[in-house]
Amino acid sequence: MTLNRTPLAPDDWVARSLQAVWHPCTQMKHHERVPLIPVARGAGPWLYDPAGQRYLDAISSWWVNLFGHANPQINAALKTQLDTLEHVMLAGCTHQPAIELAERLAALTQHTLGHAFFASDGASAVEIALKMSFHTWRNRGYADKREFICVAGSYHGETIGALGVTDVALFKDAYDPLIRHAHVVASPDVRLAQPGEDAAALTARALDSVRALLEARSNHIAALIVEPLVQCAAGMVMHEPSYLAGLRALCERYAVHLIADEIAVGCGRTGTFFACEQAGIWPDFLCLSKGISGGYLPLSIVLSRDEIFAEFYDDDTARGFLHSHSYTGNPLACRAALATLDLFDSGKVLAANAEKSTLLRAALAPLAEHPRVRHLRQCGTIFAFDAVCDDPAEARTFSRRFFAHALERELLLRPIGTTVYLMPPYILEPDELTWLAARTCESFDATLKDFR
Ligand SMILES: *Cc1c(COP(=O)(O)O)cnc(C)c1O
Repeated sequence: MTLNRTPLAPDDWVARSLQAVWHPCTQMKHHERVPLIPVARGAGPWLYDPAGQRYLDAISSWWVNLFGHANPQINAALKTQLDTLEHVMLAGCTHQPAIELAERLAALTQHTLGHAFFASDGASAVEIALKMSFHTWRNRGYADKREFICVAGSYHGETIGALGVTDVALFKDAYDPLIRHAHVVASPDVRLAQPGEDAAALTARALDSVRALLEARSNHIAALIVEPLVQCAAGMVMHEPSYLAGLRALCERYAVHLIADEIAVGCGRTGTFFACEQAGIWPDFLCLSKGISGGYLPLSIVLSRDEIFAEFYDDDTARGFLHSHSYTGNPLACRAALATLDLFDSGKVLAANAEKSTLLRAALAPLAEHPRVRHLRQCGTIFAFDAVCDDPAEARTFSRRFFAHALERELLLRPIGTTVYLMPPYILEPDELTWLAARTCESFDATLKDFR
């Protein structure tokens, strides 16, 4: 027997949602002016509202979707898993999806990061990595190493511990009294180069600030956390791979862990499966979430090295890693991740993405000449540019206006401040890529016209 729910009357969706649902990352009052999009279904890169109006999900639903909505392979894998095992606790029990996923991720790191700890959201993965780092040092007799370093503009999630290593004022300032702050080192943002300074010199300058801090304080510092290659939430801030290699060497030299937060940049986003691969390094801890389940289910994973795992292996329970979460290693989420990895294996995805990115880059190239565009940039399947808005009032409303103009053009895009970015799913066809570029340019010009 199936019990069908009465569908909501489409006209009611928005009003009822604004009444009962507290939306994230949103000043609810802004929805008096900013449209809320009711989404009835998804197919491939498209989202459809109840009336059948479509929108291209050009930001992969907050960077999580890789192979489209309602992907046939992931759906099939999940349906089978649903009839086999929906969930079991991972303390004292184990199951095939968790084992296979841990093994496959370890293999993707060439067995450098051989141990997978599961959680459900990115912020928890960051908290776990911070706790593990501190606890590793404590188990080794260095209990004073309890401070952390993060990079200016970093974003590592919004739980109280993760906010400690996050450097985005909007998310942090309101909760400041609750937070244990990390040391913040200079950003290697390539846009910050001084006149006459090339990328290598800028990177060296950023690394110098890390070296100075470690020289003074490494006895108290457990780990440095970094978003490899792209600080996404800061506004798609990009740096050279050599920065990561430099951090790896400094962390080695001063006995500090390196945590790579690949929650946004992992799973092929930057052109390699892990962003760290482009620097030829492995961190001590690597956090994954967002794309790992194909954008289907909440799942996050902290991968760590054998020698770290060994520090916890003991008869004493309190030396073990202590972090309990009800849905740890949820079989459905792990199965979605395995189906996602299968898609990577079957399709030469990274090579195809490189071709698609070349095409999208060429289609966006005219923007480089636009008088109101600065720093058109790309890393893998991430594209961004900064709008020149000298008037502060324009800058304040740019994102909201652009969002509305893009929606009118069947495009779901949410600029970060005055930074417009595209982070589409990997499955766009060439004609969809050129369409996306054209509509992005039109939305930008329409937004600028508002200001005249
Ligand atoms: C999104 C994100 C997080 C937080 O993940 P949630 O699942 O939203 O908690 C942490 N770090 C980075 C780099 C992210 O992009």
